[in-house]
Amino acid sequence: MEKENNIILTGDRPTGALHLGHYVGSLKKRVQLQNTGKYDAFVMIADLQALTDNAENPEKIRQNILEVTLDYLAVGLEPDKTNLFVQSHIPALTELPMYYSNLVTMSRLERNPTIKQEIKMRNFERNLPVGFMTYPISQAADITAFRAKYVPVGEDQLPMLEQAREIVSSFNRIYKCDILVEPEAILPDNSTCNRLVGTDGGTKMSKSLGNCIYLKDDEKTLKQKIMSMYTDPTHINVADPGHTEGNPVFIYLEAFSTDEHFAEYLPEYKNLAEMKEHYERGGLGDMKCKKFLNCVMQEMLAPIRTRREEFAKDKGELLNILKKSTEKAREVSDETLAQVRRAIGIDYFNDAEFIEKFVK
Ligand code: ATP
Ligand code: MG
Repeated sequence: MEKENNIILTGDRPTGALHLGHYVGSLKKRVQLQNTGKYDAFVMIADLQALTDNAENPEKIRQNILEVTLDYLAVGLEPDKTNLFVQSHIPALTELPMYYSNLVTMSRLERNPTIKQEIKMRNFERNLPVGFMTYPISQAADITAFRAKYVPVGEDQLPMLEQAREIVSSFNRIYKCDILVEPEAILPDNSTCNRLVGTDGGTKMSKSLGNCIYLKDDEKTLKQKIMSMYTDPTHINVADPGHTEGNPVFIYLEAFSTDEHFAEYLPEYKNLAEMKEHYERGGLGDMKCKKFLNCVMQEMLAPIRTRREEFAKDKGELLNILKKSTEKAREVSDETLAQVRRAIGIDYFNDAEFIEKFVK
């Protein structure tokens, strides 16, 4: 019987500290999966990918390796249960894309809707780096090098997984093997978290858009960000009927509040449905909603913040953790790399049949 594949791979670009979008889109799920004890999990700090649009600012990437590691530990990823490694130190991740890029057409890359949107957002125009355009190929290498079956991510990553599956199927077909594994996404349970909106109500909370609540924001910063959040522009006076749909305050409440929060901080409503109904009818002010959201968020983020501060006290230990895990990740991915070379037929110096014919 085939051995069940329970390998997980996912990661984040070290272009800044991690935010609520990362938390609900992927981190939370990673911790849940880790704690089931049923998976082999690899979590990657994607510094190579971060360089694809930050080549001129490597210092930013260097700084954020530490930030992202701290965020990982703060949310509950544990290095002895989840391998936390650095992408640039895994040779397979630079070599595999070379092979895979021959299996993908330019027009296929250009059709990727996430890439299209990201290119537009960054105003690359004629200055689009080749490395940026091809990062979905590199991402396919990240996933397949670890033979990962599951990839916990937000919705923006679905086109990347589609691309990875296509590469896997082409590779296995062309080189007549079954080495590479077709990965599947694990999306958040709550659909508002698939692509969490920013505090400005914009389509996605993203480091690049400056509309983030960071996991490390202190109490005061968090409160300020919540109090100045975009709401419903047509809800001018408290008595006016308001819209909850597309209103980030209510989207966050949908994502984070529970009936227990209402009992504790806003007992005049039993649940979010009742609160929404009042807002839509008119008579419920934005201030009150934001104050409640602030209580909910502070309660959720305080323990993460405290843990983060604790871990930040021993940075040498963080570096040790990364180094050790990266070595382990390298071993695992080197094995895949060797199999890939063999499948393509370029493993000349270890291939008995080739050697025999060569020397004859
Ligand atoms: P950048 O602006 O540098 O691209 P980012 O904020 O988009 O940063 P990434 O490192 O590209 O973050 O994404 C890491 C993971 O977090 C991915 O799985 C992605 O789907 C998820 N993610 C990022 N932002 C959100 C969001 N707003 N909602 C849900 N998931 C998100
Ligand atoms: Mg991104």
